Amino acid sequence: MNKEKWKQVPGDSLPASRFCRLIHSPVKRYLDIMMKILGITAHPDDEVGAFGGSLLLYHSRGVETHVICLTAGEAASNRGEARSREELAAIRRAEFAASCKILQVTEGHVLDYPDGSLCRSDFNAAVSDLTRRIRVIKPDLILTMGPEGAITGHLDHAMASIFATMAFHWAARNDRFPEQLSDGLTPHRTQKLYYCTAPFILPDRQPVSPPPCTATIDIEPFLETKIRASQAHATQRPLMELFAKTLRKFGSRELFHLAATIKPSTMEHETDLLAGVSE
Ligand SMILES: [Zn+2]
Repeated sequence: MNKEKWKQVPGDSLPASRFCRLIHSPVKRYLDIMMKILGITAHPDDEVGAFGGSLLLYHSRGVETHVICLTAGEAASNRGEARSREELAAIRRAEFAASCKILQVTEGHVLDYPDGSLCRSDFNAAVSDLTRRIRVIKPDLILTMGPEGAITGHLDHAMASIFATMAFHWAARNDRFPEQLSDGLTPHRTQKLYYCTAPFILPDRQPVSPPPCTATIDIEPFLETKIRASQAHATQRPLMELFAKTLRKFGSRELFHLAATIKPSTMEHETDLLAGVSE
């Protein structure tokens, strides 16, 4: 459901917030919409690992944050006390909700795609699903992983990236999934698409080719909260302990690659994902 914040503003006292846009409306004099970031991931816990600090940072700056996680993570190697895939899925959905609460995410959803085999999901159906959700949420930015599958090279990460990338582009066009437009939705141009990236590759895995870093976000003030959110994923404790250790050593910045923008330009290194985003 679209949770846009509607607010009637008297004629001469427009809100000064940098993160609000004003749009003329025939019904209300002004429509005041908060800026929105949408993260698209594959598994519960990716929301922390990929961009948890940035979700916290932008929430603190008044931005509405959304996360769509495609699978419930039921195929994970670390299974906690779960005795079946269904039990693990239920536990990991609850862990995702707890993590999103700590990350102050406005709205988080875990969908029902099959963990471990996103590559066998129907491409058109998955992109249509994400396109519809983008047309409903109307984000200003989309964050996802790179098609290399992030540092682990996980196939689900790669597919989440590919589905999210196509949905970013196709949500903007009236000739893609036009049947959605008869439901009252309109095409939506998200202003920028970012892939999370890293300045290293893992020595004990097959090497990946990460997207080059074009944006460095300082998340130092949010580091401990990000670590606390990672600990909400209790079934993944063995991984998360290693994750917390690595974060305390190297994790005060999150790195991104600008993969698409509505304003054609040459690349400049950014320190703010909202740089150049129209209000
Ligand atoms: Zn993952």
